[in-house]
Amino acid sequence: MAEGKIIKALSGFYYVIHDEGITQCRGRGVFRKNGITPLVGDYVVFEAENENEGYIMDIKERKNELVRPPISNVDQAILVFSAVEPNFSPVLLDRFLVLIESNHITPVICITKMDLLDNESLEKINQYVSDYKQIGYDVIFTSSKTMDGIEKLRPYLRDRISVFAGQSGVGKSSLLNALLPELSLKTNEISNHLGRGKHTTRHVELIQFEGGLVADTPGFSSLDFIDIEADELAHCFPEMRERSHDCKFRGCLHLSEPKCAIKAGVEQNEIPPYRYQHYVEFIDEIKERKPRY
Ligand code: GDP
Ligand code: ZN
Repeated sequence: MAEGKIIKALSGFYYVIHDEGITQCRGRGVFRKNGITPLVGDYVVFEAENENEGYIMDIKERKNELVRPPISNVDQAILVFSAVEPNFSPVLLDRFLVLIESNHITPVICITKMDLLDNESLEKINQYVSDYKQIGYDVIFTSSKTMDGIEKLRPYLRDRISVFAGQSGVGKSSLLNALLPELSLKTNEISNHLGRGKHTTRHVELIQFEGGLVADTPGFSSLDFIDIEADELAHCFPEMRERSHDCKFRGCLHLSEPKCAIKAGVEQNEIPPYRYQHYVEFIDEIKERKPRY
């Protein structure tokens, strides 16, 4: 028996990549009794029948599992935001970051369309960027038009499974195309021109790139906090994570409780006030369980 990773699922076949190549497999193992369906991204044990074909016998435990696109074991999300068109939005960035953190995925913030940015707006974005860097996030500036910064993105894709995420129209497909010209993904412009919907792709495939695997379909299209509990939210804000252990009350939600270490952190300018504000907004939403965007 050998081990590998599923990089593509199509018509009942799973394509498993391993040291010696790619094997086209059918599912056969014990996992089927438990109603588990193999997912792109799964680490599997397979039995080769011949050089090109085999059977999946077992699926290793998943680190995480995205719904849209259906993909497991995602290590990293390249979180794409445009500097303009649409304008950079810290609240939307925090929303994506919370979802990514709650799935145990490492985010990399990529701000693209930098060629469209004027100096005044650049200053404004830079203020936010310095906060996010302070928190510990990596931030990259790119332009798919001038190709500035594209080379800085490449090394991040090594040795891991990455997915691109972000609102529609921010430039995800353009970035993927800039990185992987052979992929030739349809950008918004072209697909609108043909009058097609954006979400026509049903299956996802992992593309081998720079020694890593990159999902060819962007992730996190749904932004509801459906699986996050109120008492877990502070853990999705790295600058609050440690500090929250110093609150006087166990189970402190950092709202109006006395002797709260998080609110003290905001007052001492150690937590950006807008990050805390977003935290409060998200808590309200989780309590109501109503998506706002
Ligand atoms: P997606 O929906 O996130 O995949 O966004 P697309 O890649 O389809 O891009 C949306 C629009 O923004 C298209 O018209 C692109 O040509 C344009 N665009 C994307 N990246 C850039 C960039 O870096 N600079 C400029 N000027 N336009 C860009
Ligand atoms: Zn607190």
